[in-house]
Amino acid sequence: MAAIEMKNIVKQYGDGFPAVNDVSIDVADGEFLILVGPSGCGKSTLLRMIVGLEDITDGDMIIGGKKVNDLAPRDRNLSMVFQNYALYPHLTVYENIAFPLRLAGASDSEVDKKVRDASKTLELDEHLERKPGNLSGGQRQRVAMGRAIVRDAEAFLFDEPLSNLDAKLRGQMRTEIARLQKRLGITTVYVTHDQTEAMTLGDRVAVLKRGVLQQLATPRELYENPANLFVAGFIGSPPMNFLPATVKGNQVELPFGTVTIPDDKAAKAQDKGLLIAGVRPEHFEDASVVDSDKVTEEATFNATVDVVEWLGNEAYAYIPFEAPPEVEKQLQQLERDLDGESLRTQLVVSLDGASRISEGDDAKIWVDARKIHLFDPASGDNLT
Ligand code: ATP
Repeated sequence: MAAIEMKNIVKQYGDGFPAVNDVSIDVADGEFLILVGPSGCGKSTLLRMIVGLEDITDGDMIIGGKKVNDLAPRDRNLSMVFQNYALYPHLTVYENIAFPLRLAGASDSEVDKKVRDASKTLELDEHLERKPGNLSGGQRQRVAMGRAIVRDAEAFLFDEPLSNLDAKLRGQMRTEIARLQKRLGITTVYVTHDQTEAMTLGDRVAVLKRGVLQQLATPRELYENPANLFVAGFIGSPPMNFLPATVKGNQVELPFGTVTIPDDKAAKAQDKGLLIAGVRPEHFEDASVVDSDKVTEEATFNATVDVVEWLGNEAYAYIPFEAPPEVEKQLQQLERDLDGESLRTQLVVSLDGASRISEGDDAKIWVDARKIHLFDPASGDNLT
């Protein structure tokens, strides 16, 4: 097992903007690191440079303390699992898993032991004589993983391994991968565009946008302290609400009224003109179900609820608002960056099960002012 150090990595494919632009990430020995971002952000290119399937334009790739820029893929001793599994259709499950061991010249007895161990771990022992064509998507996925784990590789690399599976199976396989990685304790770099996979699997998550690293942090840090509008909008479902905001003293003027924020937050956002406030849906609430000591005039506002969506275990209230053109423009750009995610025109409030708010109500809404983020609309940076 080995640590992977990416030092100022650049990949330039032609004349356009670089597919990967000066990215530096250290993956610790045994760490599970996620590369996440919308389509085209450069995550697969970065992974392919770790494996050696793509040349590095600039920067250094260091694996286990050794610079590997010019090393062929087979000499890097990494195990990669692809999106389409890349199984051999004419070989049995047994021989598919055995393939890298045979390539390395392992003895029959060694092959047999390792294949049987891996297939037990992955619950494939009953299917060893079958061909990939007769397996379900989830089983094929496991064979691909089996082939990766039989080798004593320095690290595992996964490129969107679950994207061909249906939602239920994806959830199951996600848990299996997490369990397997913890048990084997092997350094893992995993590419996905799915924020749920990123948040649940990663020890740390690297968020990329157009080849540039936006933030490298634990899932909790990303969620609680997003570095900028892009990360804030990308992580969380439904996404964070973005509202026009002006700060005066410790008062933030929002489209629905004025709320008071903590002094330290306010100090960072003084004299900045029009800002974008970011508040997650769960940090608003129906004021009638919040502890009465929290429901002060400074933390509540009245708004007419347009639609209520009740999903059984949760409910969302939607409240339309208008944003001035400067904010509207920035949010339109953000929607494009996020691949069309819809962020504007309505506030989404996640309601407690006890709430009886219904459509058309002029409701009193409480906001947890400590959880309000303030973003610079020009740079997108989180000021708070
Ligand atoms: P996806 O999730 O769609 O696979 P990604 O985040 O993995 O996207 P990459 O596949 O790494 O993104 O691509 C990053 C950028 O590099 C894109 O703009 C893509 O068009 C470009 N690109 C990728 N491979 C090549 C190539 N072989 N030649 C030219 N441009 C490429």
